[in-house]
Amino acid sequence: MLGDTPSVANLGQRRQEESIPAAITDIGCEREINEDRYAVVDSPAGRAWIVCDGMGGSLGGELAAQLAIDAIRRALESQDFDTGEEALRFAIEEANRIIVLRRQNPAFSSMGTTIVGALIQGDEVVITHAGDSRAYLVRAGEIQQLTVDHTYVQDLVDRGSINAEEALSHPQSHVLTRCLGAEPRLELDAQTFWIWDASDGEAEDRLLLCSDGLYSLVSDSEIAERVTNLTPQEACVQLVELAKQRGGYDNITLAVLPLGGQLHEESAGPSSRPVRRKKHETVRSAVYERRGPRLSLGKRIALMGILLVLGCLVAALFVLFSLNG
Ligand code: CA
Repeated sequence: MLGDTPSVANLGQRRQEESIPAAITDIGCEREINEDRYAVVDSPAGRAWIVCDGMGGSLGGELAAQLAIDAIRRALESQDFDTGEEALRFAIEEANRIIVLRRQNPAFSSMGTTIVGALIQGDEVVITHAGDSRAYLVRAGEIQQLTVDHTYVQDLVDRGSINAEEALSHPQSHVLTRCLGAEPRLELDAQTFWIWDASDGEAEDRLLLCSDGLYSLVSDSEIAERVTNLTPQEACVQLVELAKQRGGYDNITLAVLPLGGQLHEESAGPSSRPVRRKKHETVRSAVYERRGPRLSLGKRIALMGILLVLGCLVAALFVLFSLNG
């Protein structure tokens, strides 16, 4: 039928939609509040895309994520920076400082937030993160994780204590080793990339930023397939729906950013190579496996207390038996 053939105008509109970035956040199916936040900040340093995943009980997580977004916006908009990396680092350190200050209020003493951010200025892309929110590169149906989680299990994998498979079912898979709010001094990983024009017939890259509510329930290949074949808007909606069909136990947030070219590790020169790194064996959460909520600080302290008492009891029994023996 004639009506089934896409017109030139429709194709043009589709192309345009494919180049428009999109982001989405969803409370999921079980949580009572959405502690995830995302933001787009236009500033002299470029356009920043930020995803935060807050934690800290009652309203703490929500507050931490929002404080981070607000502080980053203020910092980027109010200052001039020499480089994108300097801008993003300053803004996130400022967010950390503010959350650490607010934690002095006992009601918010355990709050914090993960962050993953991308600052795009011209052909330069700076990516930084703290915690287990991730950045992925998607190219022609393939996906590569650009960030390495700051989690206890990722550290165990890096040290060779456990392998990635064992990490999936590790009881402490939710424990973060870094986040905003935890320490006055924040250690940040930042990487700078450059966008090159794609050659004829080559696919253009898309950057994906997301919270663990997405990747804990949707596999790499499923993410890659949708981000490659759908418009960013469609991919956002469909990936959230997929996570929710599988339980949606956590808040779900993602941003899909078409880059208009391919991401490289160098700015120019014939020796430049496309991004193809695998420095770490990264930890995935088991697909389809339910993730429980992170333990609050209070529960963690209580658990440690119980373990301590049990340890003392065992030691006392040991000494008693030794004396009797
Ligand atoms: Ca989460």
